[in-house]
Amino acid sequence: MHSSQTLEFTLTWRQSFDALGTAFYNSVQPTPLSRVHWVARNKKLAAQLGWPEYLWQREDLLSALSGNSVLPGSQPFASVYSGHQFGVWAGQLGDGRALSFGVLQTAIGAQEFQLKGAGLTPYSRMGDGRAVLRSSIREFLCSEAMYGLGIPTTRAFSLCGSPDRVLREEVETAAVVTRVAPSFLRFGHLQHFASNGDTASLQALVDHCIEQHFPHLLAVQTGAPRYTAFLAHVTRLTAELLAKWQAVGFCHGVMNTDNMSLLGLTIDYGPFQFLDGFDPGHICNHSDHQGRYAYARQPQVAYWNLFCLGQAMLPLIHDQDMAVAALETFKTDYPLLADHAFAAKLGLEGSHADDHGLIESLLNTLAVEKTDFTIFWRRLSHATGLLSAQPPAQAFEKVRDLFINHEGWDRWLPAYLLRLQAQDLPQTGERMLKTNPKFVLRNHLGEQAIQQAKIGDFSGVDHLLTVLQAPFDEHPAFEQFAGFPPHWASSISISCSS
Ligand code: AMP
Ligand code: MG
Repeated sequence: MHSSQTLEFTLTWRQSFDALGTAFYNSVQPTPLSRVHWVARNKKLAAQLGWPEYLWQREDLLSALSGNSVLPGSQPFASVYSGHQFGVWAGQLGDGRALSFGVLQTAIGAQEFQLKGAGLTPYSRMGDGRAVLRSSIREFLCSEAMYGLGIPTTRAFSLCGSPDRVLREEVETAAVVTRVAPSFLRFGHLQHFASNGDTASLQALVDHCIEQHFPHLLAVQTGAPRYTAFLAHVTRLTAELLAKWQAVGFCHGVMNTDNMSLLGLTIDYGPFQFLDGFDPGHICNHSDHQGRYAYARQPQVAYWNLFCLGQAMLPLIHDQDMAVAALETFKTDYPLLADHAFAAKLGLEGSHADDHGLIESLLNTLAVEKTDFTIFWRRLSHATGLLSAQPPAQAFEKVRDLFINHEGWDRWLPAYLLRLQAQDLPQTGERMLKTNPKFVLRNHLGEQAIQQAKIGDFSGVDHLLTVLQAPFDEHPAFEQFAGFPPHWASSISISCSS
């Protein structure tokens, strides 16, 4: 039944680039899909937005979020950006399969709503404007997994499916994810106007970003000082993001400059992976033959990408030394932020000169046997909590069991115990359990949910959503999501194809 009512609560859309003009976007209409249905609905996010629960029952919401109609009052558009892909200038890209409805005021502030996979746009190039169910489930779940972990990210509001066929390496079916974020602005948006020599548009876009998202920078003297502060701020947000990625073992997989958010959000989930075993050289993207985006290289790549952003900002900053100085803060901030993140995983209070060495020697130990990253930290958290009641050998037995050769672990543990000496151990353990998740979206978990969904059973997606939105809780009913990966997990091949 098609409802003739409009949504009962008022949607007042603001164009994301309202005052900026048509250099930044093109109006587009979504291309309908047949026999659309819900695959997943993020009720938690809807509640956070302040939207009523009955909304999900409405046909017109399903219709709009699958691209079969347009939400009342919105004027959908696709934006233009450019970027470096795998270190090479790729020229103009843009929202090739993303369409924004605009910005809505919500209970969690102004949020832009964007459909991914709703059909062709002027920026689709050789693509079909579609997204397949497989990759859309991965994006939907991982957005919320990152949110649950406290890592800045675009959110996922809903996931719609259709039996319409989409050709990738094989024939798959179409899906549309609705993404929500304060902004989907990327490094590439600024690179686009810089590369075209359109300094007026570049400036308008940076001013817009400052006004909408970094109003504290309005206090900085206008002109080069403010634009330098902008670059320094994006650098800081990116350093914070990277420290969080590394600490949780997240590999993005395609850190091209068009996939880097100006707001420091994790954006564009493609061939990402959470590490199973700790392997610093791990490459999660099957198409990344050089390992450019390997886990341990991510901070360096972020810096490289920031450098491209700095280059794009030069027409506004004028002085190369000022731009470089803003970027250089990454080199001092990132290592401190990363140490801070890993010290928190270890439950360390305060900061000691030897902490960096303690962290490094532990990570080297984990790398030798590619010890399971998530399980290690979770067991360490439990063990530390037990230390006040049990001797170390007993408390840490389950951690030690994770190693075949115990030498490295046995050498490391005394230094850790010494460092914890003055701390309240049960409290430390509790804190660590809120820092080291029990659940991450391992590849094989996503894969199982995908296989189920392909035959029409969406319960796996739903269960994972529940668990991943609260990954520090125990969820005894879902113990199966917290185990070691099965052998076949290492043979899952995730390419850019989505
Ligand atoms: P990605 O590597 O997924 O971030 O995509 C890089 C660029 O290709 C972006 O401009 C996307 O919008 C575009 N793109 C990716 N897949 C498609 C598709 N199926 N149809 C149209 N454009 C696409
Ligand atoms: Mg992208």
